[in-house]
Amino acid sequence: MTIAAHKKAKALKPNSPKPAKELCSECGLCDTYYIHYVKDACAFLNQQMAELENSAHQRSRNLDDDNELYFGVHQDMMAARKKQPIEGAQWTGIVSTIACEMLTRGLVEGVVCVQNSKEDRFQPVPIIATTTDEILAAKVNKPTLSPNLSVLEQIEKSGLKKLLVIGVGCQIQALRAVQDQLGLEKLYVLGTPCVDNVSREGLKKFLETTSRSPETVVHYEFMQDFRIHFKHEDGSIEKVPFFGLKTNVLKDVFAPSCMSCFDYTNGLADLVVGYMGATFGWQWIVVRNETGQEMLDLVKDKLDTQPVISKGNRKEAVQQGITAYDQAVTLPMWVAKLMGLVIDKIGPQGLEYARFTIDSHFTRNYLYVKRNHPEKLENHVPEFAKKIVSQYKLPNN
Ligand code: FAD
Ligand code: SF4
Ligand code: SF4
Repeated sequence: MTIAAHKKAKALKPNSPKPAKELCSECGLCDTYYIHYVKDACAFLNQQMAELENSAHQRSRNLDDDNELYFGVHQDMMAARKKQPIEGAQWTGIVSTIACEMLTRGLVEGVVCVQNSKEDRFQPVPIIATTTDEILAAKVNKPTLSPNLSVLEQIEKSGLKKLLVIGVGCQIQALRAVQDQLGLEKLYVLGTPCVDNVSREGLKKFLETTSRSPETVVHYEFMQDFRIHFKHEDGSIEKVPFFGLKTNVLKDVFAPSCMSCFDYTNGLADLVVGYMGATFGWQWIVVRNETGQEMLDLVKDKLDTQPVISKGNRKEAVQQGITAYDQAVTLPMWVAKLMGLVIDKIGPQGLEYARFTIDSHFTRNYLYVKRNHPEKLENHVPEFAKKIVSQYKLPNN
């Protein structure tokens, strides 16, 4: 079999320094011969969101439309949940269900997704799944940097022509930049939002600092009720208010890539499935283009859906958060619990919560890049993120 005529370079050996240096999010591209394209493709060496939006969706986002400014190019948005949730999925398993349907109905021959290693439930192992059992074994978040694109060489070698890739923003940015070199007839991209990711060691520190029983955590999520919900092996749920996080200890826990990331809502996927724009208990779906609609239609009869809502006003809470984070404030737990309750009752909900979390992370990340990589600030921060950040007063230094 002949491999398509694209350029190749020698993949890096494991643990060698990456072209993006400390900003590398370990997306996996540099573990393959597609490293040849790294200067153009890496999200941390070449920010090109608007150009890639144009090629993926035939237009870039409309910065004058508040929903597009925040959530990217889209033609539909809704809250949804599976009528019969998949046991053990991160939420109700919409992502795994779409992937299974696409495979069974023959729309794709393989699905790039990420399982975990036998020894460690949080150690990511990217695969190209070709059975529904393999897709289902990849359910639930591995809340660590995952080299999903490390399987790209296998795609070409295996001769797959129709592929679904599931991934987070930085992985999808690099994928979109090299997709024409993969020899595919059709690529579908199913994205999840992503923020505050960590290395495996960082995850250990995060769990040890935050949970009462770090070893038994099965999964966790930063929820819309302003608490982290840890699910433990025995099924119990532990809730820790965001405002009680030991910010001073955790400041360095998030990976530098994720402190410099502005693609929270995965702007280049065809379809995005998260939770942040929906009310508590529901998932949030963003359909970016016709391909995304085609994917969603496959599972519509398995979902309950409802329109998205937007309530409250985030602005003051974001502004106060900027100062608190910058001064690394750790509130005593009882104050934190009280604040969480108050904000839960009167605070932002639905799309306004999504804007709250985007504003909070973009302002924090903008300051991080400004302080640690000032030479990158102008080109690395996309126009939409600059506009969002400009609504707030930031510290001068
Ligand atoms: P499932 O059916 O359980 O499937 C999960 C899928 O995620 C699997 O196919 C698996 O291949 C893939 N996956 C798991 N870990 C990774 C990884 N590290 N990198 C790439 N792919 C992975 N949503 C929000 O709204 N706000 C957030 O802040 C947010 N942060 C996230 C952070 C991370 C690191 C990840 C992976 C996801 C995040 N999400 C966030 C998405 C959300 O947590 C759910 O993954 C999403 O709603 C899908 O749930 P589900 O039950 O349909 O997925
Ligand atoms: Fe390579 Fe991906 Fe790291 Fe960029 S983020 S240096 S493309 S592995
Ligand atoms: Fe990648 Fe951004 Fe998620 Fe970090 S926060 S893993 S850089 S998408």
